[in-house]
Amino acid sequence: MKTENLSDGHTKTLLASHNDCSVLYCSKCDALELNLAALTLRISPESLRSLSTVMNHAKVKLAKVQNSSTEYDGSDRSVFERFH
Ligand SMILES: [Zn+2]
Repeated sequence: MKTENLSDGHTKTLLASHNDCSVLYCSKCDALELNLAALTLRISPESLRSLSTVMNHAKVKLAKVQNSSTEYDGSDRSVFERFH
């Protein structure tokens, strides 16, 4: 496991990475750093769980929306309504 010891006693551990996305954890802060390309988000472990759940739901919904949008001839309204 890759860790990075910072001078102020903070140790960042790389939990996961894929392409331009990575998640680091600092045990001193009990905080996670979510890096997405040029964007860095500092979140709590609790937020990571929420984010993970939301992302999974979004992924499933996205697949449905993308599938249904190919079935319809550019009728955005039906796709839009599925979100609500
Ligand atoms: Zn820290």
